[in-house]
Amino acid sequence: MKRIGVFTSGGDAPGMNAAIRAVVRAGIYYDKEIIGIYRGYEGMIEGDFVPMDVRSVSNILQRGGTILKSARSTEFKTPEGRAKAYEQLKKHNIDGLIGIGGDGSFTGMHHLYKEHGIPYVCLPGTIDNDIPGTDYTIGFDTATNTAVEAIDKIRDTALSHNRLFFIEVMGRDSGYIAINAGIAGGAVSVIIPEEQTSIDELVKKLNEGGKHNKSSSLVIVAEGGKSGSAMEIAQKVKEKSSYFDTKVTILGHLQRGGAPTYFDRVLASKMGVAAVESLDEGKTDVMIGIVNNKMVYNKFEEIMTQPKYVHKDDLRIAKILSI
Ligand code: ATP
Repeated sequence: MKRIGVFTSGGDAPGMNAAIRAVVRAGIYYDKEIIGIYRGYEGMIEGDFVPMDVRSVSNILQRGGTILKSARSTEFKTPEGRAKAYEQLKKHNIDGLIGIGGDGSFTGMHHLYKEHGIPYVCLPGTIDNDIPGTDYTIGFDTATNTAVEAIDKIRDTALSHNRLFFIEVMGRDSGYIAINAGIAGGAVSVIIPEEQTSIDELVKKLNEGGKHNKSSSLVIVAEGGKSGSAMEIAQKVKEKSSYFDTKVTILGHLQRGGAPTYFDRVLASKMGVAAVESLDEGKTDVMIGIVNNKMVYNKFEEIMTQPKYVHKDDLRIAKILSI
């Protein structure tokens, strides 16, 4: 394999730059040519390619976002769109791909490989940590730290006014950010998509906290939950109990930005090197993961058939600590 294309796709995540840097540097170390593909599959279809050298990735290790930009492409979801992308890859003599993105991006690479035979390795890059086959995805640690930092600040003001705060965090259909930020931020309750929450139970718990002189309470709500948004849940709680002075904060996209933590930089760097080495060894149709601190290579069909849920034990711990 001589020319490898690298791209970022789907929602951006802190640490994507560290992964790009690792792919470029490892590629050059192993005597490959590395081609940057801008704007994910959109840029692949349009042939928006640029050769990358060692210095093109200087000073990006510590930066959030992605220098290659990211995008979502509806055209790539069609066989015709993927055929256009393949034509561009062929025209530029690209014989392997390393893509950094979430489960949708992984699915896209799998289809391209099945239809046109382009070998690829996927790196899990998403703040949601919702991809099976890896304990952690690139960006999850940074996003959760950002959420915890914000929760700590909200706690200061909640305490000063004896308020009940509902704080909505990201995660799409997954409660990973919520449960971990909830444990780290000392939340009284964490509402996640994987579990149905009873408003009556929640109100009961909040009332008990009031009786035990709890002067403020923080409830963490994962976006995309079956029980509703933070705004809707706060409204329902208010209707059941006028006792609380209630506020809602939606953390939103600030969780996607910022300098990656040491953990995400190291994870992205290790995965980037592993991607180049494994692609060169002939591995394909895989996503690299880290399980029990070891790199693993997950075949698409083996992991994408199963959803990834938050650890039941984390829910238990959050409950024990919130009395
Ligand atoms: P995140 O989890 O951060 O949102 P993601 O990679 O899951 O990241 P998606 O928007 O789901 O984000 O997917 C990114 C892109 O991958 C899509 O815009 C589309 O071009 C491609 N893609 C997604 N699903 C498929 C599919 N089933 N078939 C082909 N391509 C797909």
